[in-house]
Amino acid sequence: MENIKLTSISVFCGSSPGNNDLYYQDAYKLGGYLAENNLKLVYGGAKVGLMGAVADGALSKGGTVVGIIPDFLQNKEISHDGLTELIVVQSMHQRKSLMDELSDGAIVLPGGFGTMDEMFELLTWGQLGLHKKPIGILNTDGFYDDLITCLDNMVSKNLLRQSNRDMLLVSQEIKTLFSMMETYEAPMKAKWMKRDEV
Ligand code: AMP
Repeated sequence: MENIKLTSISVFCGSSPGNNDLYYQDAYKLGGYLAENNLKLVYGGAKVGLMGAVADGALSKGGTVVGIIPDFLQNKEISHDGLTELIVVQSMHQRKSLMDELSDGAIVLPGGFGTMDEMFELLTWGQLGLHKKPIGILNTDGFYDDLITCLDNMVSKNLLRQSNRDMLLVSQEIKTLFSMMETYEAPMKAKWMKRDEV
């Protein structure tokens, strides 16, 4: 099996900065890593919070950054005005679809509801076989440990297939996460499980 050739990455992360400096630092570092490795950044187009940090990190290293923002969020306070391209769409749904269309993989940083919504929608599309793209969590300072425990609990209760749980790649290291994403193989089995299936 050949490695996946990644050329552009969607990043989902908080529109707030959080109260741990490591979140901002890792977001900025990830942006820089994308630029240095000639990977286009596709993200929600905001200048605020961790979203702004990842964009600024990429722009500081001369990277290509495409922001996709719904028109109702695109006021001066929120949208980033230094991007390579800012695409304005009509709804949150259009934004998610376009982010998916324009990228070959996604990385999730610490965030709240918006970040979770984007990550879980991509995971659900993946488990239905609608795409085969890798989705990775950059687990800064163990931010997602409790969520991962919750997913493992869904597996033990037969509500989530182990092979679908394994679609979500996790690492605290940017480089390791990328090698996991490049060697990712999408699950083959149908999503649905029987009551006592192992
Ligand atoms: P949250 O994790 O709730 O802060 O939401 C952040 C994620 O949802 C980002 O990946 C965005 O694509 C989207 N989003 C939520 N709020 C905003 C906002 N104010 N500006 C731009 N994008 C946002």
